[in-house]
Amino acid sequence: MISGGIINSRQLTTFWHRRISEAIFIVAISLVGLFAWGYFSGITPYNSNLVVPLLPAALAGTTAIITALLYFVTPVNRKSAAAAVSYILLIITLCALLYTTRGLESAFLALFVTSLPFGIFFGLAAAAASFIAIVALLLWEYFVINVYPSQLVALSVITFVPFLAGLLVWSKPAGSKNTETKEERSYKELANELSQVAGKAEVVINAITDGVLALDGQGTVQLINPAAQKLIGWGKHDAINLAYKSVLKLIDAKNSEVGDYEDPVSQVLTSNKSSKTDLLSIQTQSGKSFMASISVSPIGQLGNGVIVVFRDVTAEKSDERQRSEFISTASHEMRTPVASIEGYLGLALNPATAQIDLKARDFITKAHESAQHLGRLFQDLLDVSKADDGRLQNTPTVIDVVPFIHEIVQGLTPKAHEKGLRILYRPMPEGVVDENRRMNPVYYINADRDHLREVSNNLIENAIKYTPKGDVIVDVTGDTGHVVLSVTDTGIGIPREDQAHLFQKFYRVDNSDTRQIGGTGLGLYLCRRLVETMSGRIWVESEYKKGSTFSVELTRLDHDEATRLIEQASVLAEQRATEETAEAQRDAEAKQASQQAMMANATATFTPPPTPTPVAPQQIIIAPTPQPMGGTRAPMPRPTGPMASVINSVSRPQLTNTPLSSIEANPSRYIAERPAPGSTTIPPRQQ
Ligand code: ADP
Repeated sequence: MISGGIINSRQLTTFWHRRISEAIFIVAISLVGLFAWGYFSGITPYNSNLVVPLLPAALAGTTAIITALLYFVTPVNRKSAAAAVSYILLIITLCALLYTTRGLESAFLALFVTSLPFGIFFGLAAAAASFIAIVALLLWEYFVINVYPSQLVALSVITFVPFLAGLLVWSKPAGSKNTETKEERSYKELANELSQVAGKAEVVINAITDGVLALDGQGTVQLINPAAQKLIGWGKHDAINLAYKSVLKLIDAKNSEVGDYEDPVSQVLTSNKSSKTDLLSIQTQSGKSFMASISVSPIGQLGNGVIVVFRDVTAEKSDERQRSEFISTASHEMRTPVASIEGYLGLALNPATAQIDLKARDFITKAHESAQHLGRLFQDLLDVSKADDGRLQNTPTVIDVVPFIHEIVQGLTPKAHEKGLRILYRPMPEGVVDENRRMNPVYYINADRDHLREVSNNLIENAIKYTPKGDVIVDVTGDTGHVVLSVTDTGIGIPREDQAHLFQKFYRVDNSDTRQIGGTGLGLYLCRRLVETMSGRIWVESEYKKGSTFSVELTRLDHDEATRLIEQASVLAEQRATEETAEAQRDAEAKQASQQAMMANATATFTPPPTPTPVAPQQIIIAPTPQPMGGTRAPMPRPTGPMASVINSVSRPQLTNTPLSSIEANPSRYIAERPAPGSTTIPPRQQ
């Protein structure tokens, strides 16, 4: 019995579908060729056995076209059905060919007979087509052509025997499914699944607009998708099997090829840890380059290879630069007048420089606080734009962390006390008998002092800001390779869902606890960037409504290395000082020599004019003077006239960029100032 249980169509792989389609296409196109040969040479089927008549030639052409189409467009899971369709078309063509070329006597009988058994290979429908074709041929020969019974028997044998042979070879006995071992079944299922997944993956990779390269463990290119080919200008066949460095040329900001140390691909090939960068450019095959975002991920274990995904970010970077330049310029321009406003308001509030009534003090205090907030915002924006466009300088020096942080904690202690908070520096607890007191090792790091100060300040200020009551505890701990600064508070805490976003630009937790507390959302972002430039890491642990701990981990310097670096720095500083002194001396000598030469020259040529009567150096007042009534003050008019620029540039303290703390600490400096001895003297008025 032939049934679906016995003749099961095979799930063809892409490879086998292609080979079978090619065979059918070649047979069909050969028949069309034989027709064309007869047509153009004038030979008819009656003159030659090999000429194909029009009807089978047309069917052969149709078979060839449909087979070619199915070759390219068949989806992965329809390969068997497509092969069966091509086969059935071929059998129909061959039937027509036998019909039009004298059946039993046809030269194409052998071709027909050899094609019959394959129907069983393609499943029930194709096997049925073969069977029907055989029966139709026998009936036609017997009833229409009237062959002898002996001839009919011979024909039955030569058609049915190959068909039955095919049945024996390719069909499975009933229940064969059950006799298949579990391993065989799962192997087949896996192979089938893999071939489907491979087909889908190929479609996806080809559709991705990012460039994708797959490299083996040695860094040889195994796959390059169309987007990568377009981006770097390498064709698929040229790039495959080449070392990735010939195909993906990575260059740094100075336009030189990156070494293995900065090359993310090489790093991932050796370390098996994924890496991402958007600081490098890629040079195309024609020598042009574009800024790229490159991400490299390992495939499984070390040595299996890596996947490189990259895209052109030139336009994004240029937008980012323009945005950052705008923010930088705007905040710089706006910070200056705000600092000036803040300074004058500070002077107005200072009893040493101004007398104002209580109501005015209240207004001015509010204005002063807002100006301070605005000033901080501009400063944060400036710092962030510097960090974003890579203008952050990193000047590492050896820092002894415990006393360094102690100084910062001391600076912020008044602020904490003002809010009624206790602030505790664990390594050096002051005035507190701390049962956890311990002996601290010396923790040295090699990092930028300003960056570390800014980060510590930000974290401790935040702890004070977001803690309504309780403690702020600062600690420095470490092991042989690391130093960890931690700032713990008993404040409002941070909800779990916000913690992952805290270090993003402008991110602020928005809830009833934070709404009343001002801020920019830039402080922690800046901390992250600064810590990154110091090659460290920063993280937070927090419980909502209970408190938070922010930690910064930096690489620890061992004692000998720190001592060596400190000595090296002091030798360098000494050398620099000696060089500067020598240079200053050389300048002074050169100046003196030129003055003497000028004097000699002048004495020889001119009669000196009469010496003008010297006047006392002018006193310049730039701060408000007390008003006799109402306690209000008007700013002192700036000097005008021909000498204004000299006066303003020489003698006036730079109030606009002066930190408020220094104005308040020394207000008298901003009331009256004489030009410093030796500075530019204001020339006497011409009579
Ligand atoms: P800002 O404080 O100016 O808003 P930051 O970047 O310093 O900006 O902080 C981002 C957000 O993180 C803050 O708005 C606040 O919600 C939260 N946050 C920071 N530090 C703490 C802390 N110690 N306790 C609770 N929340 C904090």
